[in-house]
Amino acid sequence: MLLIHCPYCDETLPELEFAYAGEAHIDRPEDPSAMTDEEWRDFLFIRNNKRGTHFERWRHINGCARFFNAVRDTVSDKFLTTYKAGTPRPSDAELEELGK
Ligand SMILES: [Zn+2]
Repeated sequence: MLLIHCPYCDETLPELEFAYAGEAHIDRPEDPSAMTDEEWRDFLFIRNNKRGTHFERWRHINGCARFFNAVRDTVSDKFLTTYKAGTPRPSDAELEELGK
């Protein structure tokens, strides 16, 4: 079972407390009406599915109910870190210190 740290509650809890909420750091387009149908489709549905470090959104549904971001290694399925929504993603140097 995965253990996930909620940065708001400051507790590490079983995965069952949380819900995956998709890829993190996806910016909504400034003017969706100016986009082509293909660009809009890509914004809505096309996501990274890379092997290794992945930036994700999670929600602490059975706790504080807040959304936060996480960095997870998709190979080892280990969480490198979690951080509050709205804060910048960790730099490559910071991730290096975390072991990736
Ligand atoms: Zn929480």
